[in-house]
Amino acid sequence: MLALEMFRSVPKTVIGKAVGGRIPMLLSGVAAPLRLVTLDPPRVDKAGWARLKVRLSGICGSDLGMLSGATSLYFSALVSLPFVPGHEVVAELLDDCEDLPAGTRVVVDPVLACAARGVEPCEACARGETNRCSRITVGDVSPGLQTGFCHDTGGGWSQQLVAHRSQLHAVPEGLSDEQALLVEPMACAVHTAVRAGVRSGDRVLVSGAGAVGLLATLALRHLTDAGEILVVAKHAHQRDLALELGATEVVTPQETLRRVRRSTGAFQLEPEFSQLSSGPYLLGGVDVALDAVGSKQSLETCLHATRAGGRVVLSGMPAAADLSAAWFRELDVVGTYASSRGDADGVGAFAKATELVAGDAVARLSKSVAVYPLHRWREALDHAHSTGRLGTVKVAFDPRSTS
Ligand SMILES: [Zn+2]
Repeated sequence: MLALEMFRSVPKTVIGKAVGGRIPMLLSGVAAPLRLVTLDPPRVDKAGWARLKVRLSGICGSDLGMLSGATSLYFSALVSLPFVPGHEVVAELLDDCEDLPAGTRVVVDPVLACAARGVEPCEACARGETNRCSRITVGDVSPGLQTGFCHDTGGGWSQQLVAHRSQLHAVPEGLSDEQALLVEPMACAVHTAVRAGVRSGDRVLVSGAGAVGLLATLALRHLTDAGEILVVAKHAHQRDLALELGATEVVTPQETLRRVRRSTGAFQLEPEFSQLSSGPYLLGGVDVALDAVGSKQSLETCLHATRAGGRVVLSGMPAAADLSAAWFRELDVVGTYASSRGDADGVGAFAKATELVAGDAVARLSKSVAVYPLHRWREALDHAHSTGRLGTVKVAFDPRSTS
């Protein structure tokens, strides 16, 4: 089968780490530790595992971070190389898998928790907090926090992979493949809305209007009693989508502090040496801010625009930032990673996400998904790196396509 494979390349990773963030083209250029190869389809000969034929697999910000070397080496102990990336997967079953017959169209919850690994549930899994599993490096398959980072399972950027019954969610008839592709990122957004801890009437800031920020906006609007939801967007098409998905107002990054100051009556302070400091900040501000980018600038905007005692949610894979405000303003800085089976009052994040992507707003959003065959991976990655500018929200591979 054809597959894109991420391989160990220390010098390339180091080069990527040094310049990846600043030179986007490098992502898909000579230094990218990715190659198109022909592999034997993966197999896991254990109960509950089945083969899947990929229909669509998305490119996520965390994939781009991994390929450009921007991702922290912290994660190197949680993957098994070489692996096939791709954790946003729409596929069809090639085998019967317990109650699901071959041919069923499914989406994959990528977290490789205790159930998939064939080990006794850890304390987190026993509580339904599968995204907090502590056994992600042991059991029936190699280390890997998720499908798409594990050598044995394969990933979505290929023609076939394997997944465990505990990871599979059947796709309802009425959903297009493009809508189904958004179920996994939507499930993460459902979990983010849980982690945001929003109380009735809270003012919320969402910094970033890529797929993560837009779907989080929808989840916050539908699953919480948030009052004003202010979304920070760089591009015009993101502005329209954010409003459609539930934003009260959309601002540019430059306008953000001024706008929050105006609506909350906060004071704005200007530290000395603005070039050297992390810039102006507020005393007062929103109740909850969500960094949906993972850049230093976006995270600092969140830290600087949140009232004392408020909450900052790390939704993008975070960059280093000046944490002075977190200390001085006693902010609750919380992470939000993947999604869990216990989310949405035990309904499960994937079930709730499947409901949400069926709505009109996401149906329209899904029409802008840009699809590439595997062999055009360099173009696909460059496109994914510039989705905001190019008017798309999600780029995906269709491994069935050869054109
Ligand atoms: Zn576990």
